[in-house]
Amino acid sequence: MGLTGIQIFKYLPKTNCGDCKFPTCLAFAMRLAAAQVRLDACPHISAEAKKILTEVSAPPVRLVKLGTGDRTIEIGDETVLFRHEKKFNHPSGLALAVADNLSDQEIEQKVQQVKDSAMERVGQQLRVDLICIQDKAKDAGRFAQVTKKIADLTDSGLILDSLDPEIMKAGLAETASRKPLMYAATEENCDQMAALAKEYKTPLAVYSDKGLEALSALAEKLAASGVEDLVLDSGARTAGKMLSDLTQIRRAGIKKKFKPLGYPTIVFPGQGAENSLMEVARAGIGVMKYASLIVLNNINNEVILPLYTLRQNIYTDPQQPMQVEEKLYKIGEPDENSPLLITTNFSLTYFIVLGEIENSKVPSWLLIANSEGLSVLTAWAADKFNAPKIAKLVKNQTVEEKVNHRNLIIPGYVSILSGEIEEELPGWKVVVGPREAANIPKFLRELA
Ligand code: SF4
Repeated sequence: MGLTGIQIFKYLPKTNCGDCKFPTCLAFAMRLAAAQVRLDACPHISAEAKKILTEVSAPPVRLVKLGTGDRTIEIGDETVLFRHEKKFNHPSGLALAVADNLSDQEIEQKVQQVKDSAMERVGQQLRVDLICIQDKAKDAGRFAQVTKKIADLTDSGLILDSLDPEIMKAGLAETASRKPLMYAATEENCDQMAALAKEYKTPLAVYSDKGLEALSALAEKLAASGVEDLVLDSGARTAGKMLSDLTQIRRAGIKKKFKPLGYPTIVFPGQGAENSLMEVARAGIGVMKYASLIVLNNINNEVILPLYTLRQNIYTDPQQPMQVEEKLYKIGEPDENSPLLITTNFSLTYFIVLGEIENSKVPSWLLIANSEGLSVLTAWAADKFNAPKIAKLVKNQTVEEKVNHRNLIIPGYVSILSGEIEEELPGWKVVVGPREAANIPKFLRELA
């Protein structure tokens, strides 16, 4: 952002209508200057002002979109170097490399492996997002055949990996409507690749292993030719070089506002890796340090599960605890005699307790209290999970109409609340449950 809040304010309607969720246009302008809101949050801005502000408020790392529909993958659009400053916006996209010289059966197995990689964790859908089709056969016909086959088999995002413009064109002819990433333009082929990117309207990766100066010069040349959706590959294939290059690229884009490096990045941690441990270690560096796309050679559980967890941790908003809605949840098909448990709305707490109740096979009611995303003990210490709140929640959620009994199971860690809750809820009995969620199944089965 090149303008101050006051300068931006001059372009706003100054009606203080509040539609942007800020009380005044000035408040909105200050947030926009700090890159904490998007310009489109104000629906009343004039076309002329929008044009000016769009240019100056463009994120320092360009937003690039791959894929289509609900499998669109957004990368870039980052505004900070460290997640505690604000948050990282778009998680690293994970891809599996599939060579076109594999047999059709092997290709089908790889696609199935990508499909099987989808899982849910703490309420979020996790998956390998893309398939990177590599032109190992060096045959345009085979590349076209394989890209079509993979596109027919899956709605995953696609990366077409070939330095040969003829082979790339054959793949694009089959899959351009899926908006794949072309990988890659080099000093040698950049004019032909730029022409293809413009013809098929697809994003283009830029590759140079001759240093960041050469990479930025190539990106600048492509942008000047009219290809603006670029993804950078510095050719780093070791952990140290990846860390150094990715950090310098992000720093140049964000701190120096150096446009030729203000693009998302792609890395290949499996290339040259001796084993899957080395691949996952390099990929982990990519997740933590700014890689927008990570192309893996294998997505076996020992590789993909730690990356899912790491990616989820890095790309949550540190200022917004993950939380679930405050309400009474049915676990299984509980009836009026089923046990009633209560805990806080921190996502991890909710999903762990939910999982253990499901493991018990005892249909239950689970009352979730809004603790502003804090776990049980922290919420109790901060007075956000206390007897008056719990009593109020029981009443507001009309729990007494859903269960015949008057027994409330509280987490073992807050057994100290028992007496107070019983005072706040006359006629109710508080049962102290296990301290650890892992003991819930045994506890519920013994209760049943
Ligand atoms: S929506 Fe636009 S006009 Fe309304 S207060 Fe926000 S910035 Fe001002």
